[in-house]
Amino acid sequence: MKADALKLVIFGVGLIGGSFSLALKKAGMVREAVGFGRSEKTLEEAKKLGIIDRTGMDEDLKDADIVLLAVPVGQMEDILKRISPLLGRCALVTDAGSTKGDVAKLAQFLGEKSAQFVPAHPIAGGEKSGPSAATADLFEGRKVVLTPLPENPAASVERARKAWEACGASVSEMTPEEHDEVFAAVSHLPHLLSFALVHDIASRENRDLLLSHAASGFRDFTRIAASSPEMWRDICLANRDALIIELDRYMKELDVIRGALQDKDVGMLEKIFSEARKTRSNWEPK
Ligand code: NAD
Repeated sequence: MKADALKLVIFGVGLIGGSFSLALKKAGMVREAVGFGRSEKTLEEAKKLGIIDRTGMDEDLKDADIVLLAVPVGQMEDILKRISPLLGRCALVTDAGSTKGDVAKLAQFLGEKSAQFVPAHPIAGGEKSGPSAATADLFEGRKVVLTPLPENPAASVERARKAWEACGASVSEMTPEEHDEVFAAVSHLPHLLSFALVHDIASRENRDLLLSHAASGFRDFTRIAASSPEMWRDICLANRDALIIELDRYMKELDVIRGALQDKDVGMLEKIFSEARKTRSNWEPK
């Protein structure tokens, strides 16, 4: 453990919160990790897995060095209101929420301590959830986007950057609006489409027949439909405006494809598929 090791407080000891703690512990940066959760069972599991050392108490907010909010974004308002009077003046608050416009607005609930909150979004994760899905290397080589608030002192942004870098991530900055537009297109829309496709299949009378013949194409397109419904409900609602713009765009694209099918427009179908294939073949997650 490093001499200046930190006291870490985590709200939500699931995939992301658990991985943050394990990564910082692996880096020797944690003196003590305490967790707040919705259920005793989850907190017990997180303890057994070495994610936290014990369950948190209100007093823990007073001398915390880093407080991470790793709960569904719809839960953050209540937590910020709750911790506001308890939070020590030296604590850095950061989060892992997948949307940032809404989270930036929630900083007001920290009152005069809002400058201590540096919002963040780790671009890492997956469809598994809960403490058992957490790993120390989840953020290794992955991106984290910070969306600093105007009131954040440079030193707080630097502390947030250092913490995420210690987890192995490379850190960049965006405005909350930029962030939400980008992730509506490349993350929130794909999840919505995947949920919609599986839901449609599941609601048919012959779903068992369909699913028993589904293979790798279905598996690859729908892996993310196994993600947490609560988390994705909150993300879609929080980024509703940008997501509706993306959905409208996508529906226009589908209209073009539908027209090409109807008209047996071989050239158009081939053009769309070839352009998509070229982009997808040259793309690797960075
Ligand atoms: P998760 O379900 O694995 O963990 C969330 C945990 O928060 C659960 O243990 C849940 O019980 C707990 N929780 C919920 N409400 C709470 C409350 N009020 N107080 C304390 N604990 C509470 O989910 P996750 O994947 O770790 O996601 C956490 C956050 O990270 C979400 O905001 C999500 O948008 C974001 N995120 C997720 C991913 C991903 O791929 N899963 C990626 C990037 C960011």
